[in-house]
Amino acid sequence: MIFLLIIQNGGIHMEYATQMDAARKGIVTKEMEIVAKKENIDVESLRQLIAKGQVIIPANKNHKCLDPNGIGNKLRTKINVNLGTSRDCVDLDMELDKVNNAVKMGAEAIMDLSSFGDTQKFRRKLTAECPATIGTVPIYDAVVYYHKALKDITAQEWLDVVEMHAKDGVDFMTIHCGINKATAKKFRADKRLMNIVSRGGSIIYAWMEMTGNENPFFEYYDRVLEICREYDVTMSLGDACRPGCIMDASDISQIEELVTLGELTRRAWEKDVQVMVEGPGHMPLNQIKANMEIQQTICKGAPFYVLGPLVTDIAPGYDHITAAIGGAIAATYGASFLCYVTPAEHLRLPDLNDVKEGIIASKIAAHAADIAKGVPGAMDWDYKMDKARKVLDWEAMFDVAIDPEKARAYRASSKPEKEDTCSMCGNFCAVKNMNKIMEGEIVSIFDE
Ligand code: SF4
Repeated sequence: MIFLLIIQNGGIHMEYATQMDAARKGIVTKEMEIVAKKENIDVESLRQLIAKGQVIIPANKNHKCLDPNGIGNKLRTKINVNLGTSRDCVDLDMELDKVNNAVKMGAEAIMDLSSFGDTQKFRRKLTAECPATIGTVPIYDAVVYYHKALKDITAQEWLDVVEMHAKDGVDFMTIHCGINKATAKKFRADKRLMNIVSRGGSIIYAWMEMTGNENPFFEYYDRVLEICREYDVTMSLGDACRPGCIMDASDISQIEELVTLGELTRRAWEKDVQVMVEGPGHMPLNQIKANMEIQQTICKGAPFYVLGPLVTDIAPGYDHITAAIGGAIAATYGASFLCYVTPAEHLRLPDLNDVKEGIIASKIAAHAADIAKGVPGAMDWDYKMDKARKVLDWEAMFDVAIDPEKARAYRASSKPEKEDTCSMCGNFCAVKNMNKIMEGEIVSIFDE
């Protein structure tokens, strides 16, 4: 174990570049202390997981108000909420309202996917005021920022936007470096139904086709890593070839790109850059477990960040449910970070209510997986609900409900004849009747 201690201004200053670098040098950072406390694990075990790359703490040095979170499959499953302006919806205040609500509702991360207007203003506001982990996709922003023909953006300009986001305090960035010329060749040879559905992936693929150049994020990957190391930006290795329909799941393009992402993970770790790997997408339920296991072996246990997976394609308007089913299974078998999906997916930019529905669905999926994985303390929440239900303590049930407001509104909308029951079974309330008979009391369905 190496400690690097530098005496500075009369105090001890520990020198490190990234959380991973610190962990490898045996240094326990203040972020590690906070995360260990939140996760109820000992800080030395956490440090070792970070040193191996199996846990990340995205924490840009310029995001001063960050309340850090750890991501890794030995920890509680975390959720991300995508927000941001678009050409059709450029109301910054509305997006900020969504951010504040998302944080209040327990989202650990916010991805700013703004693709219209003054994106830097919104991004800087987020990293100045928002304690959640902040992520971005510099590819979208480059297109807005340069405001010129896609094919005329230079490799250097793409990289400059990565540096700008890093300076602005972004904790993690999705960078689509896995779709290189070799992957693109496989993608063209092995036809798929939905082509590329990743927004960033489709932009960089089009740029490669129009310029004939290699993906700049792949070609100049070492430069990207230097930037990430300087600010401690976590790389979120984007999956341009994530399946966009269940027919395309686990095909050659997806797996070819995953192999490249495994190599890029190793190269990032060589520079002490923290990494997570993005995953599917749309995927039949029976393929999810195998996909999680393959990712864990190819990317050597790097945290997996899944976008769904949506287990069926037939439910526009209900894709928060199709994604929650897939997310719960994915997190049970290895994913550690779920990107929320709202009922508006595939249909429109989500409004405030869509965001709420998406967060709740995603949190349910994450919590269900934490119970299945045996995350310490995960079942305590359920135990509180169970105890309240057993004694028909409605106020206690509302207090621990994942969405107290909805639970209260439902009960209030259909008053039972007997206050202690609900209108579902009324006098037939099994809980009430069993409580009575177990206490030796008479149970009478109609004579009360
Ligand atoms: S009335 Fe039925 S649904 Fe309602 S609390 Fe009793 S057993 Fe449960």
